[in-house]
Amino acid sequence: MAHGDSLKSEQRAFPSVVVHIPHSSTVLPPAVRQAMLLADVDLQAEILRMTDHFTDRLFRLDSLPADRIVFPVSRLAVDPERFENDDLEIMARQGMGVIYTRTAAGGELRKTPAPAERESLLNEYYRPHHARLTAAVAAVLTAHECCLIIDGHSFPSRPLPYELDQRADRPDICLGTDAFHTPPSLLDSAAAAFRCRGFAVAVDRPFAGTIVPASYYRKDKRVLSLMIEINRRLYVDEATGVPLPDFEDLRRRILSAIALFGSRC
Ligand SMILES: [Zn+2]
Repeated sequence: MAHGDSLKSEQRAFPSVVVHIPHSSTVLPPAVRQAMLLADVDLQAEILRMTDHFTDRLFRLDSLPADRIVFPVSRLAVDPERFENDDLEIMARQGMGVIYTRTAAGGELRKTPAPAERESLLNEYYRPHHARLTAAVAAVLTAHECCLIIDGHSFPSRPLPYELDQRADRPDICLGTDAFHTPPSLLDSAAAAFRCRGFAVAVDRPFAGTIVPASYYRKDKRVLSLMIEINRRLYVDEATGVPLPDFEDLRRRILSAIALFGSRC
């Protein structure tokens, strides 16, 4: 085997996919809990509604070497999927920017944090998470021609009041795209892979977009990104947060679909 060939096969062994899981955690740091205005029972209900339950397990890609970046605390503390700057973030208008002040139903969640508290939350959780994501993408690009980010989420079977898309007919799988970072060939093969496994697929609805680290955003075509959102009715009892009996089955179907298009770099 020529040296070039052995180098290439070693490079193929490196992960070329980065899996981003922003919303699976239910952990509320004590200082954040203290800032919340809800009673325990209401806070638990809000966490139940807003958490992408078990997406850290659903998107564990056994068959595909991949780096996983999982946000360690609840999105009710800080939401890593939002722009840090509220002026750029459409959801900030309804109190759900990077630090939520409103609940999913528009009620009061917490007081607007003082500038020092906001900085400390961003420094403790948001910025290190984005630094990890950026580093993971950079590491892939040293060994591969491109890096595929899979942005893994789930969504409730019925729209919550805060959601921009209130239509009742929700797909099984929503694929979120970015005009620059999601090539049509990637979207087409992902949609086909899920459809031929029996899933109803929609594109950019009920949720649109997919994450790309700021330093690559709209600058580097080697960074591919696709958001995959799973309808929670497929795998979890939404009233209790307990996984359904065929959770593992569903997970395997999702992973076999991802394996079809996930090794393209
Ligand atoms: Zn999510």
